[in-house]
Amino acid sequence: MSNKFDIIVIGAGPAGYVAAIRAAQLGFNTACIDDWTDAEGKAAPGGTCLNVGCIPSKALLDSSEKYAQASHEFADHGISTGKLSVDVKKMIARKDAIVKQLTGGVAGLFKANKITSIHGRGKLLQNKVVEVTDNAGNVSSYSAENIILATGSKPIDIPPAPVDNKLILDNAGALDISAIPKKLGVIGAGVIGLELGSVWSRLGSEVTIFEAAPDFLPPVDKQISREMFKVLTKKQGLDIKLGAMVSATKATKSSVTVSYNDKDGEQTAKFDKLIVAVGRKANVDGIVDDTVGLKFDDRGRIDVDDQCKTNVSGVYAIGDAVKGPMLAHKGSEEGVMVAEVIAGQHTKLNHDVIPWVIYTHPEIAWVGKNEEQCKEEGIPYKVGFFPFAANGRALAMNEKNGRVKMIAHKETDEVIGVHILGVSASELLAEAVLAMEFKASSEDIARTIHGHPTLNEAFHEAALAVDKRAIHKAN
Ligand code: FAD
Ligand code: NAD
Repeated sequence: MSNKFDIIVIGAGPAGYVAAIRAAQLGFNTACIDDWTDAEGKAAPGGTCLNVGCIPSKALLDSSEKYAQASHEFADHGISTGKLSVDVKKMIARKDAIVKQLTGGVAGLFKANKITSIHGRGKLLQNKVVEVTDNAGNVSSYSAENIILATGSKPIDIPPAPVDNKLILDNAGALDISAIPKKLGVIGAGVIGLELGSVWSRLGSEVTIFEAAPDFLPPVDKQISREMFKVLTKKQGLDIKLGAMVSATKATKSSVTVSYNDKDGEQTAKFDKLIVAVGRKANVDGIVDDTVGLKFDDRGRIDVDDQCKTNVSGVYAIGDAVKGPMLAHKGSEEGVMVAEVIAGQHTKLNHDVIPWVIYTHPEIAWVGKNEEQCKEEGIPYKVGFFPFAANGRALAMNEKNGRVKMIAHKETDEVIGVHILGVSASELLAEAVLAMEFKASSEDIARTIHGHPTLNEAFHEAALAVDKRAIHKAN
C-alpha cells in the first residue's frame, strides 16, 4: 500500500465517512483513519453516531416505546396482553446487533468505494503528513494533498459528577444498562437527557432530571416546549427539576446520592444510576501538532469558514469538531461539500434549513426560526397552527397530543420556520425542510394536495391556518 493519497480523512463518523465516500466517488485516492474499537477489539467505523449515539439510542427508544404502548395503550384498542415483562439484556443485544450491522456496512462501503481504511489514532503533522498510532502502539506515516479533520465530539465532564460508567454514566454507559434501575437520575434536560431519560422511564424507572437552566429546552419554540413539558411531566411522570444545580455526588457500591440546589434550597436525592448529559465538546485533543499552526475558535472547536476551510491551506474540518449544531446530518452534508470543494465545485450548505429532532414521545421536530427568534430579530411574521387532536389519522392512531406550527414572513409569505410536536414529527418535518429549501410560501403548501387520512394533513392545515382558512378547525 502506498502511503500517499489525494485525500486523508481523520475520523469515520457520519461527517468523515461520508466525506471519504463522496471524495472517492469524485475520483480521489482516499484514506480514512479512525480509532473506534468495539467491545471485541475490532475497528467499528461510524463514530459516535453509529456506535453510541443516534442509532443505538433510537433502537432503545423504539423498544421501550413498544413496551410503553403495550403497557398503557393496547387496552384502549381492545387488546389485552396479560402480564408483560422486559428482557433488558435481549433489548440491549438487539441494539448491539443493529450497531454491528451498520458499522459493518460502513466498512463495506469503504471497500466498495476503494477507500483505504486505516485503524488507529491519527495526528496531523506539518506538510499534510499524518502519523497513525495503532492499538499495539506501532506508528506509521501517510501524506495527502488535502486533509479533512472529522474527529467529532465527546461528552462534557462536570466535577461534581465524575463518570465511572458503573453508577455515574455518560451516553455510552446509559445505552448499556443491563437491568432497569428503580430510580434513575439524569443531569441535563437537553436532547440526550430527555431521550435516554424517556427510554428508562418507559421501562419502569422513576426518572428525575436536574436541569441547571430555568427554562425547559431553550432552543425550542416556547409554545411547543411548554406543551412538551406538560406531556413529559404530567402524562409520562418524569420529574424534571428546572433551575436545579448539582453541587456534589457520592457513590457507594450500589447507589449514588446527588446534592443539588434549586428554588427550595440545598437538597439530596438517591439513585441506582445517574446519567450525565450536560452537552458535548469538540474532540480535538492531540489531533494536530502545534507546529501546524491550526487555529481554534473561542469554544475550542477547529476554526473554519463557511466552506469548512481551516486557516491551513489544504486542511478542512467538518462535523461536531467545528461550529454549528452537533448533528449527524449537518456533519455529513459538510463532508459532501468539502469533497466537492476540493474537486473545484462551488457547493454551499444552507445553514438556515437544518432539521432538528428530539426523539421523545411525542417527538419534537423543527426547522428554521421560532417565534421568539422572529421577535428578537424584528422579522414581521404570521403564524398558523393545527392540533393533531383535530386530525383524523392521529385520532385513529390514538396520538392526539401536539400540533404543527408554521411561521411565514408577514410580507412575502415565505415559510421561515416549522415546529412540530407529535407522533412521527421527525418524518413529517421532511416536507417542511424541502419546502423551505425551495423557498416555498405558506400559500404554495396550502395549494398542494395532501393525502387523506394522513398526519401530514396537519401540516397542510397549518399552512391554511397562516391565512386563517384552515378547514378542520375554527380560525
Ligand atoms: P463522531 O461521530 O464523533 O465521529 C468522530 C470519529 O473520529 C470517531 O469514530 C472517533 O473515534 C474518531 N476520532 C477522533 N479522533 C481521532 C483521531 N485522532 N484519529 C482517528 N480517529 C479519531 N445526531 C443526530 O443528528 N440525530 C440523532 O438522533 C442523534 N442522536 C444522538 C444520541 C446520542 C446519545 C449522542 C451522544 C449523539 C447523538 N447525535 C445525534 C449527535 C451525533 O452523534 C453527532 O452529531 C455525530 O456523530 C457527529 O459526527 P462526526 O463525524 O462529526 O463525529
Ligand atoms: P444539550 O446541550 O442538548 O443539553 C445539555 C443540557 O444540560 C442543557 O439543557 C444545559 O442547560 C444542561 N446543563 C449543562 N450543565 C449543567 C449542569 N451542571 N447541571 C445541570 N444541567 C446542566 O446536550 P446533550 O443532551 O448532552 O447532547 C449533546 C448534543 O448531542 C446535542 O446538543 C445534540 O447536538 C446532540 N444530540 C442530538 C440528538 C438528536 O438529534 N436527536 C440526540 C442526542 C444528542
